[in-house]
Amino acid sequence: MPSSLYGWLLEKYCMHLRPAYMVGSILDIDFDNLPIPGPIYAIIDADGTLLRGDRESEDVPLVIEYHLKRSGLETRLVRFVVLSNTIVRDPRRITRIQSLGARFGAKTYCCNNRERKPRPIGYKKALELLGPEATAENTIVIGDQLFTDIWGGRSLCFLTIYVKSLGGDHLWTVPKRWFESLVLWLFDRARFKKIRNAAIPKNPINEEGMRSFLELWQTLVKK
Ligand SMILES: [Mg+2]
Repeated sequence: MPSSLYGWLLEKYCMHLRPAYMVGSILDIDFDNLPIPGPIYAIIDADGTLLRGDRESEDVPLVIEYHLKRSGLETRLVRFVVLSNTIVRDPRRITRIQSLGARFGAKTYCCNNRERKPRPIGYKKALELLGPEATAENTIVIGDQLFTDIWGGRSLCFLTIYVKSLGGDHLWTVPKRWFESLVLWLFDRARFKKIRNAAIPKNPINEEGMRSFLELWQTLVKK
């Protein structure tokens, strides 16, 4: 039983939004130290998580691509699916998400208005795409929005990881960010401050090493 009104309100109205982890970016996720025994599968949001949310942006920061592909080879992360809300069924938006998935060798699922996150339908489809070995016990959800990615992930009992957005929010996302900041602040002020101040991942100067690894990755991963 919470000891204060504040604790009671938090427990009653916000616990479904509480991520298991809050980190500055995907780069801060140590896949081997997550509390999941054996192989790990992931459902990852696209806009704001893997690349900027601007509709035209197709530019995944090289450093994120490097981190995820390396993790796929060297840690227990087996595979992931890109799950995106594509409520406006613009073919260009769908193609953009599909080419993002192709870049990572990952399957993609674009939720229409009826399936949109946080509704569970999209997550169930993503789980199917991950294969029969993926279950709620060994699959994690990574996303930059509490009210879509984390809420939906928690409703199906996935381990959820909140990452700071890479920017480029849509107009309708901006007001949600105010409430999101408030909820994150209520959950954990110290961690909220830390991720608010976290730098947006930038490609380091020595891009050459990363590029040669990514070329090698193309040859290692079966098409
Ligand atoms: Mg997002």
